[in-house]
Amino acid sequence: MQPLDLATVPTPVEPAPRLAAAIGLESDDLWVKRDDLLGLGGGGNKVRKLRHTCAEALDRGARVLVTTGAAQSNHARLTAAAGARLGLEVELVLAGTGDAPTTGNLLLDHLFGARLVWAGALPHEALEEVAADRVATLVEAGTPAYQVPYGGSSVTGARGYVEAGTELLDQVPDLRHVVVALGSGGTAAGLVAALGAARVLAVDTGATGDPAERTASLVEGLGGDPVGLRLRRDLVGEGYSTLPGPVTEAMLLAARTEGIVLDPVYTARALAGLVASVRDGDVRPGERTVLLHTGGLPGVFGSVPLAERLA
Ligand SMILES: *Cc1c(COP(=O)(O)O)cnc(C)c1O
Repeated sequence: MQPLDLATVPTPVEPAPRLAAAIGLESDDLWVKRDDLLGLGGGGNKVRKLRHTCAEALDRGARVLVTTGAAQSNHARLTAAAGARLGLEVELVLAGTGDAPTTGNLLLDHLFGARLVWAGALPHEALEEVAADRVATLVEAGTPAYQVPYGGSSVTGARGYVEAGTELLDQVPDLRHVVVALGSGGTAAGLVAALGAARVLAVDTGATGDPAERTASLVEGLGGDPVGLRLRRDLVGEGYSTLPGPVTEAMLLAARTEGIVLDPVYTARALAGLVASVRDGDVRPGERTVLLHTGGLPGVFGSVPLAERLA
């Protein structure tokens, strides 16, 4: 199935010499792939996955997209934007009680006209069951509905990052490491399928309890080989929604060396993972390294711990 034309691709790859030097690499080692600039709805990696999942939804005749996420979910926000672009209704089943402040991604969910269903403090598996029930109810009532999986990370959605991996290799043929934050796993899985496990450094954010298994099964579904998956789990800290010290430091570093805004959940963890990997000797000076900027800017404006840290 052809992916939909929802994204501005290829995204640029930009040098980050001052950041490279600050973390102990040579100044032309480090580049940033700007998937925060994918165009639709404020940008971010979920756009590439939605090109594929929404193509499947339209192919199946859906009139409503249903998906899940945290209150500050980038994926939920971008599903809302994709629905607006495609003329589909969007229903977001979100974790929490609806007293979350209308800031950041949540503000944009409202702007894009999504319907919100607050499901309580549930883990993502339970949210997905609530969403599946909503789809069944809609379908029974005669409204074709499609469930976009958590984070957009089905094998179908992850194909967007197989394409991105090929795009990146065209831009950076001597690529040695691509560093990526891992949430629902589709982004890292697509990159592993395209580039091989040895070149992908995934940094877990604590979004799920089984990041290695999820990612491996997506890689296999894409026809790739997950053996040798490089996964750092030491930047999760106290959990997904918390802001560990090294993550805050990484965010400040990118902002103050390159004028690049990372987000406190995903991309700052990816950079903190790269910093740790340079320190460990897993990434060495002279090796061409790309930090994948997967977006998340609205989350900066919705992060209570970040506001407390910077105030
Ligand atoms: C969802 C997300 C990720 C992680 O991508 P997955 O495919 O879910 O692993 C990384 N960065 C940002 C900004 C995200 O929103």
